[in-house]
Amino acid sequence: MNQDILLRARAALGDRTPMLTDCGLLCGAACCQTDEDGQGGVHLFPGEQALLKDREWARVLPSGFGPIMLCDGVCEREARPLGCRIFPLTPVRGRSGKWTVRLDARARAMCPLMRSGIGGLDPEFVRAARDAIRIIAADPEGEAFLERWHALEEEYRKPLW
Ligand code: SF4
Ligand code: SF4
Repeated sequence: MNQDILLRARAALGDRTPMLTDCGLLCGAACCQTDEDGQGGVHLFPGEQALLKDREWARVLPSGFGPIMLCDGVCEREARPLGCRIFPLTPVRGRSGKWTVRLDARARAMCPLMRSGIGGLDPEFVRAARDAIRIIAADPEGEAFLERWHALEEEYRKPLW
């Protein structure tokens, strides 16, 4: 995917966060912590790996889905991946077929913002995340990636038994 598209999508979020105050204080920045076994991480959008190559805090590993980034809970905010910027939202097609965002099922386990629903998030953050996803979706490779991301997130909505 053309890197300009990626940069525009990342810039759409800029410094916006899910709440006007630092929501990391509510949970000890739970979404930035690795699992007990050191696992967990953020899937990178197409072309994003190149933007992280000189960032010492970012370790990029291959996964079945594609490159995944691990960190130690510390980063340079302006360089954090798109997946971090949109969390706890995830891309989804709306009824009209246009891409939008919804709460990410993977956030259920750790994010206290899930309780108040998407309406509890800063509307400017939700709007910016939607704009970012639509910038990605306008590119064929980007849209194909969104489809895969969405399919993965859907897996977490399935009942366990
Ligand atoms: S887990 Fe949720 S509340 Fe906590 S820092 Fe991440 S987005 Fe904010
Ligand atoms: S890159 Fe930054 S925002 Fe993303 S998980 Fe690591 S510390 Fe958190």
